[in-house]
Amino acid sequence: MLDNLTQRFGRVVKNLRGQAHLTEDNITDMLREVRMALLEADVALPVVKEFISRVKEKSLGQEVVGSLTPGQALVGVVQRELTELMGGASVALNLATQPPAIMLMVGLQGAGKTTTTAKLGKWLKERQKKKVLTVSCDVYRPAAIEQLKTVSAQAGIDFFPSSPDQKPADIAAAAIDYAKRHFYDALFIDTAGRLAIDTAMMTEIRDLHAQVKPIETLFIVDAMLGQDAVNTAKTFAEMLPLTGIILTKLDGDARGGAALSVRQITGKPIKFAGVGEKLDGLEEFHPERMASRILGMGDILSLVEEAQRNVDHDKAQAFAKKMKAGKGFDLNDFKEQIGQMKKMGGMAGLLDKLPAQLSRAAQQAGGAVNDKSMNRLEGIINSMTPAERAKPEIIKATRKRRIALGAGVQVQEVNRLLNQFEQTQKMMKQFSKGGMQKMMRGMKG
Ligand code: GDP
Repeated sequence: MLDNLTQRFGRVVKNLRGQAHLTEDNITDMLREVRMALLEADVALPVVKEFISRVKEKSLGQEVVGSLTPGQALVGVVQRELTELMGGASVALNLATQPPAIMLMVGLQGAGKTTTTAKLGKWLKERQKKKVLTVSCDVYRPAAIEQLKTVSAQAGIDFFPSSPDQKPADIAAAAIDYAKRHFYDALFIDTAGRLAIDTAMMTEIRDLHAQVKPIETLFIVDAMLGQDAVNTAKTFAEMLPLTGIILTKLDGDARGGAALSVRQITGKPIKFAGVGEKLDGLEEFHPERMASRILGMGDILSLVEEAQRNVDHDKAQAFAKKMKAGKGFDLNDFKEQIGQMKKMGGMAGLLDKLPAQLSRAAQQAGGAVNDKSMNRLEGIINSMTPAERAKPEIIKATRKRRIALGAGVQVQEVNRLLNQFEQTQKMMKQFSKGGMQKMMRGMKG
C-alpha cells in the first residue's frame, strides 16, 4: 500500500534525521523532495503548493530551528502537516439515535460499492454488535442485486430482497419499513452506479436521498484512480450532502494521491479505507496513523489494536508461561503463530503497518513469506505426528519423506520449514532474554 509514496518520504526522513544543523539550503532541498513526492503521488497542484508553503513556514519557525534535534523536529512538522492534509482527527461513523441508522452508499460503477456495503455491515456487526440489513436499489443490473445478496450472506448480515421491476423509491420505503419493524440498528442502501457521472443517476440518488434522509451518505471511490477519483468526489460532493468518503483498493494504490488530497478538495472526511478484496479488508481511516505509515514509521497503534482483537488471551498466557518455564518453542506454537498472523490481515497487512526498517528486515528474514506460503506451512505441520511437532529434532530423512508426501509438497519444502522454525526458535530465545529492547535500540536513528 502506498509503496512509492512511502519510499520517497522515507528517503526525506532519513536525510533529515541525520542533520545536526538545518540551514536554509537543506530545508530548501527537503521541500523540493517533498514537492516531488507529492506530485508523483498524483496530488493536485494547488494542494501541493499549499502544503509546501505551510511546511516551509513552520520549518523556519522557532520550534524547528531552536530545537536540539532540528532534523527530527522537521520530520515532526511534515508528519503533522500530512495528518492535517488528510483531515486531522479521524471522524467516526454516525449512527442515528433512532434506529435504523440509514446509510446511503453512492459512487460510480466498479468503485467497490457493493463489496464495501458488505464489509462495513460486517464491521458494524462484529465490532459494534449491531443488527444490520442491506438492500439494493440498483434495478438496472439484475446481477447487482444478486451480488449484494451473496456478499451479505458471506458477511453474515441480513439482506432485504428487491427486483429489477421495482422503483428504487419503493424498494427503499419497503426496506426501511421492514428494518423498523424488525429492530435493525443499521440499514445499508446500495444504489446504482454508472460508468461516468450522468444527470439521470444524480437525479435518482438525490431523490432517494431526500426520501430516506440518511444519517450517512457515503461516497465510495477507487483510490487507484488518483486525481480522477478526487474530481469525481468533488462533483458528487457538490450535488449531494455527503457525510464521508470511503477510499477503496488502497491496497493496490502505490501512489496515494487520492488519500492525500480528497479531503482537502471536497472538505469531506475519509471514514474508511478498503484494503483488500476479502470482506475483512476494511480499516477505519486515521489520518495521523496514515501519515506515520507514509513517513515509513509504521502504524504500531493499529497493529496493537488488531493483535488485541485477535489474540486469544488464554492461549497467549499459556504460551508466555511455557516460555518462562524454559519449555522451548515447538512446532505446535509455530503453527499457532501462523494462524494468528493469518487472522491479523495476513502477511501483507502486517508488513504494511511495521516501520520501514523492521518491515524490510522481516521480509529478508522470511524470504518470500506470503499468505499462500503460510497455508503451505500449515499443511506441512498438519502432516506431522504430535510427537514430531513437540520434538522436531526427531524428524530425519524417512519422516521428512512421509510428511512431504502427506502434505503434497517436495522434501525441500519440509526442510525449509524446519529451518524457518529453527530461526524463529532462536529469535524466541533472544526475546526472552530482553533481546527485543536491544533490537529496538539498534533500529533508532
Ligand atoms: P460496485 O460496482 O461499485 O458495486 O463495485 P464492486 O463492489 O462490485 O467492486 C468492484 C471490484 O473491486 C470487485 O472485483 C471487488 O472485489 C473489488 N474491490 C472492492 N474493494 C476493494 C478493495 O478494497 N481492494 C481490492 N483489492 N479490491 C476491491
